[in-house]
Amino acid sequence: METVHDLIIIGGGVAGLSAAQYGARANLKVLVLEEMAAGGQIVPVAGLENYPGFPEPIDGFELSQRFEEQAVKFGAEFETWSARSVSKQGKVFVIETDRGSLRATSVIVATGAKHRKLGVPGEEEFAGRGVSYCATCDGPFFRGKPMLVAGGGDAACDEAMFLSKLSDRVVMVHRRDRFRAQKSLAKRVLANEHIEVRFNTEVKEIKGDSQVKQVLLTDKQNSREYSEDVAAVFVFIGSIPQTQVIEGVDLDEGGYIKSDPRMETSIKGLFVAGDVRATPFRQLVVAAGEGAIAAHSASQYIDELKGEAYL
Ligand code: NAP
Repeated sequence: METVHDLIIIGGGVAGLSAAQYGARANLKVLVLEEMAAGGQIVPVAGLENYPGFPEPIDGFELSQRFEEQAVKFGAEFETWSARSVSKQGKVFVIETDRGSLRATSVIVATGAKHRKLGVPGEEEFAGRGVSYCATCDGPFFRGKPMLVAGGGDAACDEAMFLSKLSDRVVMVHRRDRFRAQKSLAKRVLANEHIEVRFNTEVKEIKGDSQVKQVLLTDKQNSREYSEDVAAVFVFIGSIPQTQVIEGVDLDEGGYIKSDPRMETSIKGLFVAGDVRATPFRQLVVAAGEGAIAAHSASQYIDELKGEAYL
């Protein structure tokens, strides 16, 4: 008979790896599905400065290896399979993958979110060399230097406020004539003497040599193009939660998966952790914590099912 795993985790980023460790330590039969190498978004990050317990910057790849090693040590299994869909059939989840079907009593979706990109020349080329999607991670590298923030939502405003503590020149460009961000936050940004807001302005190109040196901007009101010298470009124009594998689960208005404080989604036995979850602060340490909660809750869910003699 086909194996029914206690817990299948979809996504091997930090949330998934943390969940795998906690699930395995709770004596669950855990399988992690990750289509690429484990580690997710942190793999290319050269120096993580804000993960607690590491006062010196730690290499993202190395940290993800440690997460994986720890999960494997406690018995979690890994497959480089791509999950295509998750559905609940009776009390059992069926996960269709590129290598066939799997079955599990509980599932944690930890598929993450992809940063929306500007799609302008120079963005790919200078990623990690001045173009960043995380002010908390990379802002300190550009302390005291002029920086540019693109975006007009809560994330852009929050991150611009953070960067304004590191530099007295933060230029913020937004494509429309007003912020999308919450009013109180937008007001604080507009009142911040270190942030210069330029509405109706778009980034046309990012230029540099080995590092970002300049951006080409367009003032949409008069189609004027001009250059601005900056050392870094921070892009916060929303993100794209990776929810394609799961249908029928409740999402928030941004498309992120909603959950209760136990990380359980609107589908019983289906949990969520990390950047794909509707959460106010998308950080590594948060993802790791959410993974732990989700695995603990999955273990409790399985115990309850066993108590009901469904298994
Ligand atoms: P968001 O609210 O979707 O805002 C994205 C911003 O980027 C918008 O201003 C949008 O412009 C702009 N944008 C989108 N595509 C663009 C493009 N191709 N070029 C230039 N600009 C573009 O995303 P977010 O700020 O990441 O926030 C996501 C969710 O997390 C929201 O629900 C937010 O409330 C929440 N969040 C909350 C907090 C907080 O409470 N402190 C902090 C961060 C995030 P338009 O305005 O023209 O559409």
